[in-house]
Amino acid sequence: MLNLSSYTKGATLITTEYTGSNFIEDIVVENLKIAKHDGNVHTRFPPEPNGYLHIGHAKSICLNFGIAQKFGGLCNLRFDDTNPTKEDVEYVDSIQEDVHWLGFDWEERKFYASDYFERLYQFAVKLIRDGKAYVDDLTAQEMREYRGTLTEPGKESPFRSRSVVENLQLFERMRSGEFPDGSRVLRAKIDMASPNLNMRDPAIYRIFHATHHRTGDTWCIYPMYDFAHPLSDAMEGITHSICTLEFEDHRPLYDWVIENVNPGVRPQQIEFARLNLTHTVMSKRKLRELVEQGYVDEWDDPRMPTISGLRRRGYTPESIRDFSDRIGVAKSNSMVEIALLEHCLREDLNARAPRVMAVLRPLKIVLVNYPEGEVEWLEADNNPEQPEMGKRSLPFSRELYIEQDDFMEDPPKKFFRLSPGQEVRLKHAYIIKCEEVVKDPQTGAILELHCTYDVETKSGGPNSGRKVKGTLHWVSAEHAIDAEIRLYDHLFLKENPDEVPEGEDFKINLNPNSLETLIACKVEPSLASAEAGSRYQFLRHGYFCLDTKESRDGKLVFNRTVSLRDSWAKAVKS
Ligand code: ATP
Ligand code: MG
Repeated sequence: MLNLSSYTKGATLITTEYTGSNFIEDIVVENLKIAKHDGNVHTRFPPEPNGYLHIGHAKSICLNFGIAQKFGGLCNLRFDDTNPTKEDVEYVDSIQEDVHWLGFDWEERKFYASDYFERLYQFAVKLIRDGKAYVDDLTAQEMREYRGTLTEPGKESPFRSRSVVENLQLFERMRSGEFPDGSRVLRAKIDMASPNLNMRDPAIYRIFHATHHRTGDTWCIYPMYDFAHPLSDAMEGITHSICTLEFEDHRPLYDWVIENVNPGVRPQQIEFARLNLTHTVMSKRKLRELVEQGYVDEWDDPRMPTISGLRRRGYTPESIRDFSDRIGVAKSNSMVEIALLEHCLREDLNARAPRVMAVLRPLKIVLVNYPEGEVEWLEADNNPEQPEMGKRSLPFSRELYIEQDDFMEDPPKKFFRLSPGQEVRLKHAYIIKCEEVVKDPQTGAILELHCTYDVETKSGGPNSGRKVKGTLHWVSAEHAIDAEIRLYDHLFLKENPDEVPEGEDFKINLNPNSLETLIACKVEPSLASAEAGSRYQFLRHGYFCLDTKESRDGKLVFNRTVSLRDSWAKAVKS
């Protein structure tokens, strides 16, 4: 067995052939073999605190922390907070909670790009001194015109030839707040004729009189992402700076900044394809819009693809990590089916969730031959696949609830549930037979069913093996507890919600029926002691999680995490 950690920290190279499980790991392994980056592996997860993390970020977290773990390296958490206006401490807190919940830890390495503002400023001064940056007074409009196009080179700004001394003075005056927003920028002096537009003297500092959530009013100039990011990586000793594909065209600039500022270490940018999921939008701007305009409850609405939403819905961190492994790391953009994520969740919950009985739309049945006032406690497995999860006792009595749609007065041929004169087994209990349908004389609505039970068909009884076609779940009317149950469907009807007719936006693809609330459900009494956030399989219905926000003062609210029908497994089999 190969000890991967012996590849790292400059340790002696072992010769066992090892290829990574994706192309980024392959790069890391190749680097380690030649002791690039001094044989270190150091990654970072760099969220901008301008929203809650979503499943796409989870992919990036699993990748960055996962690679560090696998190769005995380290992974930092870095808040990329260089844009003062959109950021908030609420987001900073939620991001930390979410990364921890996913099962990863940055130890003492939590950083903020804003902590580097002074050093970044000094790096910019260095570029000016070396004649590699200049203050430009062109307006934004003029800058766009001078920039050229993909087919035409750009034009040099008349301010490009300013002297070093003048640039140093102007940059300092920018810092001290003498100029209004947008009146000047600091630009890297690279190449206005470069075929790569990012290299045509990109802005690296802009004036922005705005209060920053951490540095307050100390600064009125802020570094641009393309300048701050490579240098933040370098200052933290990052070896592999993993980012998404849209930064591929920025890599020459990343490298230019590192080469020309020369901070001493040379992190390596590697791009991978961002995760897209069917029936899901992943842009923070769009998710924020859904929250702020009230289309969903909050960032942690169980329909949201945010980590906090998935958590509240009942997802486990294990299922999300498993999903992240299975989708792998791609070099070109594609869309992953949400059914795969749900499949990973079902597999995990199937192994660990206790089975219980809950009736979502109750129909009362009275067992007319069952002694009045009697209660029997029946034994039930908590999880037939995991005997070590034990058993519990279920009360059985004369009046029970079954599911409304488990009864049909006039059933079609293959209906194996309850109907007049027919028999079914009640799970963990007896076979019953429907003798009479009691209706409201006025409306004709079914009020209750009168049934008989066969005393010999109890588990362990003389006729326990008698077969009938259907088995139903049920609860004892007297013992059941009331619950509210929320059923969820995809938040968007279309596979790709971003596909919209001209002039419309993604919100026209919202699913009007993404939430169905059932307020008169009956669940078995063992759930009275359920802890918020705990997950169950409701027999025949799916997996449910006791809501952490709204279950209080004895009120039980369950979220349906996922139904039992596994469209992914089906599609793979067929
Ligand atoms: P913004 O549009 O606000 O920049 P962002 O989705 O890029 O949004 P960041 O906070 O900058 O959000 O992302 C932090 C990290 O997560 C980045 O390294 C980014 O590449 C990665 N990331 C974001 N979205 C995805 C995604 N859908 N799949 C994989 N990684 C992602
Ligand atoms: Mg980003």
